Amino acid sequence: MRPPDGNGSTGHLWIEEGDKRVGMVAEVAPVIPVTKTYSFAVPESMEARLATGQRVTVPVGKRGRCIPAFVVQIDRRPWDSTLRPIESLVDRESYLTEELIELGHLISRYYCCPLGWTLKAMTPEAVRQQRGLRTVRCAKLSKSLEEIRISAKRLSTKRQRLLERLESAGEPLEVRSLLSDVGASESLLRAVVSAGWVEIVTRKEVPEEVFSSVPRVEPDFELNADQKSALGQVTSAIEAGEFSATLLYGVSGSGKTEIYIRAMQRVVAAGNQAILLVPEIVLTTQLVQRLSSRFERVAVSHSGLTDAQRSVIWRQVASGEKQVVIGTRSAVFAPCRNLGLICVDEEQETSYKNLQAPRFHVRDVAIMRAHRLGIPVVLGSATASVETWYNCTHRPEFRRAVLPKRVKDLPLPKVTIVDMREEYRRQRRQVLLSDLMVRQLSETLEQAEQAVLLLNRRGFASRVYCPSCGTLLRCPNCTTFLVVHTTTGESACHHCHTRIPTPSVCPVMGCGGRLVHLKSGTQRVEDVVSQVFPDASVRRVDSDTMRHRSHYQQVVNDFESRKIDILVGTQMIAKGLDFPHVTFVGVVDADVGAGAVDFRAQESLFQLMTQVAGRAGRADSPGRVVVQTMAPDMPGLRFAVKHDYDSFVQAELAARKRAGLPPYRRIARLVVTRDREETVRGEGQALAQWLRAFILARAHQHTEVWGPHPCPLARLRGRYRYDVLLLSPSPSIMQEILLQMRSASELGRIVRRITIDVDPVSMS
Ligand code: ADP
Ligand code: ZN
Repeated sequence: MRPPDGNGSTGHLWIEEGDKRVGMVAEVAPVIPVTKTYSFAVPESMEARLATGQRVTVPVGKRGRCIPAFVVQIDRRPWDSTLRPIESLVDRESYLTEELIELGHLISRYYCCPLGWTLKAMTPEAVRQQRGLRTVRCAKLSKSLEEIRISAKRLSTKRQRLLERLESAGEPLEVRSLLSDVGASESLLRAVVSAGWVEIVTRKEVPEEVFSSVPRVEPDFELNADQKSALGQVTSAIEAGEFSATLLYGVSGSGKTEIYIRAMQRVVAAGNQAILLVPEIVLTTQLVQRLSSRFERVAVSHSGLTDAQRSVIWRQVASGEKQVVIGTRSAVFAPCRNLGLICVDEEQETSYKNLQAPRFHVRDVAIMRAHRLGIPVVLGSATASVETWYNCTHRPEFRRAVLPKRVKDLPLPKVTIVDMREEYRRQRRQVLLSDLMVRQLSETLEQAEQAVLLLNRRGFASRVYCPSCGTLLRCPNCTTFLVVHTTTGESACHHCHTRIPTPSVCPVMGCGGRLVHLKSGTQRVEDVVSQVFPDASVRRVDSDTMRHRSHYQQVVNDFESRKIDILVGTQMIAKGLDFPHVTFVGVVDADVGAGAVDFRAQESLFQLMTQVAGRAGRADSPGRVVVQTMAPDMPGLRFAVKHDYDSFVQAELAARKRAGLPPYRRIARLVVTRDREETVRGEGQALAQWLRAFILARAHQHTEVWGPHPCPLARLRGRYRYDVLLLSPSPSIMQEILLQMRSASELGRIVRRITIDVDPVSMS
């Protein structure tokens, strides 16, 4: 690879005294951590086969070691003899259209991730390799039978039969079946090929029938008035032919999916394609069937697909054969050539964030893509993210469409809050299940109904509690609880970054009780519940047990068929599921997440509470919900019980504004991970110092650096972790700072070892 030339964005191309030629030159993005693209000559033999978006290997360094790289541009232009040639072609097929490559550039810049890595993440490996597909040898005529008859002196019956067969088929026929049909041999085939009459082509085929088709039916109901007006808004956004974002705001069951479907039908009727993105957990069989029955040609993409299925889907989408793509994360990069609409269901869902570089957020990528293409996006949610809500009031392209009621006006469940501090005092011990919770559970079991028990997230953090006076250690500046860091012995607030040495004795005047550390986890809940209800069938679902989609589906099936009485789990099971026999939902510990991880704690608590309220109950028996907490005054709880999103979001925005947190500023989180704690701290300090000096020199207003601080998850797999937060109101300033930081020679190796997370959703 040529050394970078300093200022341009590409490697040096042309030298005065070089041996000049004109030829094909490819600009490539290597799949290694570099910020630039580089030029390579295209060998003549490759010219016809090379396309942008394809992966190739290119030689780098003195020894010309070959590494993979994506072709991002091909030009015919003058070049000199010092330009090295591309070594080889890797991908059979490129599904990275120019549009997607452009999007890749944006993602790479915004999320501060090398372009090569970004492009790699945009198309599944199996798809690029067309893996899992069967290669089928086919034969087709090279000339018309007429011409062959004229040129050939005499044709044997077998040859004649074979040629006639090919002519009448009018398309390539699979060699194996062709030969057996006409009773011919391979040598006969070779003869007609060498005579120039027939040629052999290969075709990629799906090994088995991978998609089942569903009969097409339109539902017989009319949209209600709210739906009509929401659809009207979306339709005019489609007709406007420009970028816009509509927040479709309505509780689950208010008919949002029906709006996505009808909006997509309009787009498809106009000959365009549409993408519907859903979180993994929401992509149920019911949803797929519902979508399949409403569109002629739907592609479904999710993490459980086989390589073959994935390859076929991408092909069919690229060829326009599929009109609608429903899918999880990677579907946002579906190679649609005439995309007209993107819908994002449950836009607030944090699982839309990619946890590896590029650490993109699917909703935000959907918005970027739609913005570039000048098409609308629809973002659906019952509890919109604070960011989206903010955008709706601050950005002209964002608007709201509201579905205020459920279609089938089900009664909302009765929510009771149990203050666990009182429970502890009364029972004189630390209990996991309050008396009320136990009572409600046994009633539910007696009536042969089902129950769900939830924890707010899988808490790894522990909080500090005084059993004598019921005090829970809180931040002096915030409403959040302090979280103990076992490695530093400190308690920290992850909202305002206050930290204090963890006391062992209660700080309340005149109390002096011995403080205990509280922990809870799904495993423990499962154990306790099984002890209290030995006859009930209890099952646990959390991210440990949910690695495999099939496992999850199994639990869902067992719960549906009522083999399970009580389902214990994290927030995950509160989503997208509809169990008609669940009449009781217990939130075992609403505070875990709220005390634990980050500034989004109240937001996620509110979301959890709302989802819970949407789950319990059915037409003839309104559900019951019991929420156990040690802080009933938390806004995420207080407003959720009243189903008051508006007041919640106002309070939350005010708090975020005071602290200068998103959406008022963006965050880039830099995490340093090393074996020794001194090293991590030292490198974190170097990073923070460099950033502070840079910001000072450029006089960037309101741009700030926090840290280095030990991460909440201060040690992970034996390695220490510190983070530095960069906060800025301007994304372009942020990008500029990160770009300069990455190439700062003073920082040397430090910068290559950190992870950069722009707009983080988890601060653990
Ligand atoms: P959401 O996506 O907001 O959860 P859905 O679109 O899935 O809501 O609607 C919930 C249920 O109500 C679905 O079974 C759907 O078929 C049905 N439904 C939607 N709109 C109507 C309507 N206007 N009349 C009757 N049923 C409807
Ligand atoms: Zn605080």
